Order: sequence, then C-alpha cells, then structure tokens
Amino acid sequence: MVKLKTVIGTEVHVQLASASKLFCSCPTEKYLEVPANSLVCPTCSGQPGSKPAGVNEEILGKVVQIALALSCKVVTNEPIYVRRKHYFWPDLPSGYQRTSLPVAIDGELAGVRIRECHLEEDPGRYDLRTGEVDYNRSGIPLVEIVTDPDFTSPEHARQFLEELGAILEYLNAARVEPGSTRVDANISIEGHPRIEVKNINSFKGVVTALSFEETRQRNLVKHGVTYGQETRHFDEGRGITIGLRRKETADDYRYFPDPDIPPLIVTPAMVEKLAKQMPELPRQKRARLAKQYGITAEEAYAICLEQEYADAFEKIAKKTDAKIAARLMRGMLKKQLNWRNRSFKQSKLTPELLCELLQMLSTSEVTEKVGEQLLIEFLDHGRAPRANAQKQGLLGVHGGDELLAVVEKVIAANPKPAADFASGKPEALHFLAGLVMRETKGMASPTQAQEMLRKALAKK
Ligand SMILES: [Zn+2]
Repeated sequence: MVKLKTVIGTEVHVQLASASKLFCSCPTEKYLEVPANSLVCPTCSGQPGSKPAGVNEEILGKVVQIALALSCKVVTNEPIYVRRKHYFWPDLPSGYQRTSLPVAIDGELAGVRIRECHLEEDPGRYDLRTGEVDYNRSGIPLVEIVTDPDFTSPEHARQFLEELGAILEYLNAARVEPGSTRVDANISIEGHPRIEVKNINSFKGVVTALSFEETRQRNLVKHGVTYGQETRHFDEGRGITIGLRRKETADDYRYFPDPDIPPLIVTPAMVEKLAKQMPELPRQKRARLAKQYGITAEEAYAICLEQEYADAFEKIAKKTDAKIAARLMRGMLKKQLNWRNRSFKQSKLTPELLCELLQMLSTSEVTEKVGEQLLIEFLDHGRAPRANAQKQGLLGVHGGDELLAVVEKVIAANPKPAADFASGKPEALHFLAGLVMRETKGMASPTQAQEMLRKALAKK
C-alpha cells in the first residue's frame, strides 16, 4: 500500500501581554471577567470619526523578541504598513481588522519553517447563539505566527506548540488565559485538496482537531470520495470539525494600508537593544544544562519547558545529585503535575521543598514509591515532604545499621539461598533481597538492599 503523507501548516494567534490595547489606551486586564463592553472607547468600538493612536512601541518590541526567539530575520529600516482587512461580521464594528505586514520573516522552530510574524488587533466576541457582542477584546494586540506546511503529523504540531508556549513564557510576552490563543490550521493528504480548520481555541485542541481531520481525509481518500477545498470549524466539546463555507482567497479581503496609522519602522539599533534584554531561551538552556550537569537531552527538554522549573533544577542540582534530580523531575514529578494539569509555578512547590524531597530520594532515605506518595500528599494537601515522612515513620529503614541488621537476620534465617549465591547462583540474591524488602515493609531501597546483601555474603 502506498503510504500517504499528511501535510500541515498553521497560523497561530497569541494575545500579547500588554496593559493597553493596540490603537487606544483601553485596559486589557481581566477583560473576560468584567461586564461586557465595559473596556471600550470610540476607537476600539469602531465609532464614526474615531481615530486610532499609533502602535505602542513596547508591543512592537514584544513581537520583535518573539521573532528573534524563533530565529526570524526582522524587517528593519523599511516601512511596515498596517493594513485593513475587510470582512463583515458583528465582532468587527469598523468592518475591517487591522493587520500589519510582516515584522519578521524566515525563522525556524522544531524543524518547522516560520514564514512570518506580524502584529494585528483582536476582533470582539460574538455569541452566535444569543447574538450578543462584547467589544472588551476588540483591539487587544495579537501576534500572528505563520508557518510553512512542514508538519508531518498532529504530534509534530503538538511538539511545536509546546516549544512555542515555552518561548512565550520565558519572554513573558503572552497572555495565558483561556481563549487567548487561537490556531487556524490547514491540513491535507498529499495530492488532495487542502482543508482549513478555523478557530481552534487552545494548543491542546490543535492535536484533537488535526487528528480528527487526518483520519476523516484519509478515509475519504481510501474510499475514493472526491472532495473540494473548504474551511471547517472545530467543535471543541465534541472533538470534531464541521464544514463551514467555501475557502476564501486573500483577494476577498480587499487589503489596503490604513491611512490613519503611520507605518511601523524597526531600526537595527532597536533589534540589538531588544535582543540584549532577552533571557536565556529554552533551546540554549537545554543545551547548557545537558552539558553542565551531564543530564540527557530528554531530561533537559522536559525541565526547560517551564522557566521556573528550570531555575528550580539549577538550585537543586547544586545541593543534591543532579542526575537523580533530573530523572525524577522529568519522570515522577512531571507525571504528577501533568495529571493535575498544573505547572510547577501553580503547584506551590518551592525549590527548597522539592530539594528536600529529592535529597531524601537520592540518599535512599525513602524509596521512590514512598517519595511519590510524599509528593502526592504535598500536591494535594500541602504537607511538607520531610516533616510528613517523619510523622508517618517513613524514614525508618534506610541504609546504615538498621538495614544491615535486617540483612544479617535474613541471611542467618536462610542459609541455603546464601550458600547458593556463594556457589555462583545470582538469582539467589534476588530471592534474599525480596525477603529484605518484605521485612522492611518496602521502605528500604531495593538497590541498597542488594548492595548490602552482596557485601555481607562476600564476607562469609
Ligand atoms: Zn479603546
């Protein structure tokens, strides 16, 4: 059977973190929580005769930093026009959306080419069911990141968006509220019509929408059904896409430069200054941590997805075994955080508390099983790991004389397996280690128990 290739490209819209809207001074804080239409002025509600203010330089700077983090070439010393994109929809009171020409072009992230990054304003929100319109969101600045169709699977798109999310977090450049990110994706089976999926409202939704579309299109192709290019809408609740309308072409929008807004100009000096203000980004941090602490690329990747998590790792690596910390931070800890859908920052785990837990684990004071239980009890009930372990008597059997006493007792009570091991039967050691674990109620470290047994038996 011929292997059909999936081709995916995306347009990612992210709300930029900014105190005021793009072309007026209306605040953007808590725009979802305040009453509808309470954060508006004549400009952002498109009233006749209103004039937009010029683009705030801080907002433009954020787009430049995002573009630099995506290895893009910033367009300098050239007028970047803000254009009007015309269409009629109740969420757009002026009848057009303002969107700039590319601020930067030709970047790359996760093996995907970035075609361009530009600035645009968000439309308002229109509820199709009630007919209500809310212009609180109208005019909030967005960056649009357009990729080439380089994704080969929904999973590839997930990885790209995960990395993009990390970059935006490091740069402190974007909002993280629900609905602050919207993705349009085009997906096709090579040689077949291109389908655009509109308005996917979260990075998570992208994978669901694309997986659904990939399967749907493959089935059509497999059964020889012909279909045309179209735009589909993603229904997040049901996890499916629905046919919407014939695909629009760029010409339908009648773009032209907005005569009210002077073109943006970025100078090389501005780019240089903005570049200097950027923190170490995930890509560089991953490479440095792997080299400096001898941890694997996968561990460094997982740790660097959140800036505070990476900072915590570095603090902890100075006090305890960095390799053990990295393994547990990529594995057990990430698993428990993901399961609760919480970031490290949201978990209230401080580097000190995490270090306390990892130290108990790296010195085998507690087993990984007990360590995970202590972690869960912290995440769910806020119990500090060490104090909790002491209170529950979980630090009882660890290394030292206590474990040695158990080991000797087990050897004395089982002379046959002990003799078997001495005569070259390694499986006898596992049997004895199992007895030690049973005797200590699973609180000893299995590796340490085996190690001690080996030493004790060698002396006989
Ligand atoms: Zn306004």
